[in-house]
Amino acid sequence: MSDNAIDVDPGTVYLVGSGPGDPDLLTVKATRLLEAADVVLHDKLPGPEIIDMLPEDRREDVGKRAGGERTPQSEINERLVELAREGNAVVRLKGGDSFVFGRGGEEAEYLAAHDVPFEVVPAVTSAIAAPAVAGIPVTHRDHASSVSFVTGHEDPTKEESAVDWDALAATGGTIVVLMGVGRLPDYTEALLEAGMAPETPVALVERGTWPGQQVATGTLETIVDARDEAGISPPAITVIGDVAGTRESIVDFLQTDYGAAEDEA
Ligand code: SAH
Repeated sequence: MSDNAIDVDPGTVYLVGSGPGDPDLLTVKATRLLEAADVVLHDKLPGPEIIDMLPEDRREDVGKRAGGERTPQSEINERLVELAREGNAVVRLKGGDSFVFGRGGEEAEYLAAHDVPFEVVPAVTSAIAAPAVAGIPVTHRDHASSVSFVTGHEDPTKEESAVDWDALAATGGTIVVLMGVGRLPDYTEALLEAGMAPETPVALVERGTWPGQQVATGTLETIVDARDEAGISPPAITVIGDVAGTRESIVDFLQTDYGAAEDEA
């Protein structure tokens, strides 16, 4: 056994976060489990570099079905149980941290309800790491004493919207939006209507820590144009708040190099 070896239990599911995409940001435990697992179920979000590390005969891509539509969560849940009952040590690999908008909670509930033992392996979430590698601290003594992680997936105008943008605007803290590229115009508008200053700094970080990471910066008023100009597409993190503006003073000294990361500021 190599130093890196870890004992895995047959019939157990490991809910493992991959971190934001750079293989060097996998936890030691995640790396060991990926080596030891009988099978790894993954989608695209761990990023090309980590997915390429997985041996082809021990991995299953459950992100998309043939035809391009997303595999229903129920099918993934059933597959996890099936593989575990066959006696496999199964890694369910998620981008970032499995329990941050990763549906890891649902998978854990399903496994528990079906008497399948599992372990949760936490990881570096893109919600913090993508801003960080772009030079943005999500909190800062002078600028933000709180941070909220929200989904941008929902229509902010719909009455029963699960995200209270008015309340978020009132916190004065940093707002980090996941899944928020498409609806950027809607929620920036909602925040402006809630009274946030139009000059509030906003940054978009696409494919944080992947080759070809891209950053676009602007304000609540200009970020939609900046997004379009830079051609930002998912996966990307939106950071809203004064911390997004602190980047300017440090970015020239920032030594992280993820592909051809060009600053659009
Ligand atoms: N569990 C994940 C989040 C899953 S939700 C985590 O903890 O990071 C999917 C969203 O995550 C994407 O729409 C995007 O907003 C964000 N995301 C995941 N990886 C990212 C990355 N490398 N760079 C930027 N955003 C990322």
